[in-house]
Amino acid sequence: MDVLSLTAELVAIDSSNPGVGEQEVVTRLEQLCTELGLPHQRIEPVQGRPNLIVTVDKGPGPHLALSGHVDTKPVGDALKLWETDPFTLTTVGDDAFGLGSSDMKGAVAAMLLAIRRFADAPGSGTVSAVLTADEEQGSAAGAQALTQQKLLPDIDAMVICEPSGIERPWEALHLASRGICCFELDIWTNQGHSGLSPVLGRNATLVAADLLKAFESFHPSVTHPGHVPCPVTVNPGMIIEGGVAFGTWPGHCRVGVEIRLAPGMDEHVVKNEVRQLVNSVTDGQAQVDINYRPGSLGWMDGIELDPAHAVAQACQSAAKTVLGHHLEPSGYPGGTDASYFMREAGIPTVTSLGPGWLSVAHGPNERVGVAQLYQSVDLYEAVAAAYMTGQT
Ligand SMILES: [Zn+2]
Repeated sequence: MDVLSLTAELVAIDSSNPGVGEQEVVTRLEQLCTELGLPHQRIEPVQGRPNLIVTVDKGPGPHLALSGHVDTKPVGDALKLWETDPFTLTTVGDDAFGLGSSDMKGAVAAMLLAIRRFADAPGSGTVSAVLTADEEQGSAAGAQALTQQKLLPDIDAMVICEPSGIERPWEALHLASRGICCFELDIWTNQGHSGLSPVLGRNATLVAADLLKAFESFHPSVTHPGHVPCPVTVNPGMIIEGGVAFGTWPGHCRVGVEIRLAPGMDEHVVKNEVRQLVNSVTDGQAQVDINYRPGSLGWMDGIELDPAHAVAQACQSAAKTVLGHHLEPSGYPGGTDASYFMREAGIPTVTSLGPGWLSVAHGPNERVGVAQLYQSVDLYEAVAAAYMTGQT
């Protein structure tokens, strides 16, 4: 079985989320594992949303897991912009185009073939592929259920095989996952007759505009910066609602702000800074309530893996052998299942090491480099070998 043809088979199955295609992908992967002689187990915490764990146990030694998701984002409104059929992997020059080629059916194909090679190689230890459902819609039926319901085997370290490229292939070794902090600002001013606006003070919508502008250049503190460079991104204006009608000077406006958190940011410090900024901008012109979203959207810490950890070192060693260069440790711009595996299950996890580019995911004409697919089989095989022998 060839990594390009297996990727093509997986791309041909529509597993866009929401949807029911994850079952068909997992059924095909089960057949493949049977053909390849790889022991596997379907785990379905939510009916119809299967996860698959493939494990090769060669006796004493550590347990490394490679992980990828089997769902994709939908084609959506981008269909008219696709130049090829999204469900037919089409090679043009050095690239293969298809939905999920980068994110991340190519990586899923590569990791299974690498595990087959691990099974045939001398030495001991265990390698699993943890193939999850539902990553593209919050992981409730996938990584979240697997970790919260303790459905995973004992795993010592994990590598998420999401695309490493942002602009360039194999651009970095992503070791940090950003957290998030989302809140709404409810701005209250005097509502009244718009003919009298000069005496009513600035309206809530205008104060909201001042606040959005101020948040655009807000730099919250990173109290304890980590080992891995990881930017903070502040996104004001994620939602906006307000106003009543022409003739009425608005007395209320609500705007949403999202902060993508770097590891090492302190909730108390950042929320204080938000309050101070709001107070300094409004300067008595409005009353502003800051409403943090409930649960993990209101605050979820960023996390990082120490670049000196054995699994990160194994990735670097494999990169040097297979790709011929060191990978710069970096923070990952997007969310991945690493958040659950690392935070909930406490598994040291590399956030991303995989073929393709994050910048082509979720849009039209998604593609993966054909050479990258073949490299990734070699790379995952080398990561497993390096991790098992503790070679760095
Ligand atoms: Zn992905």
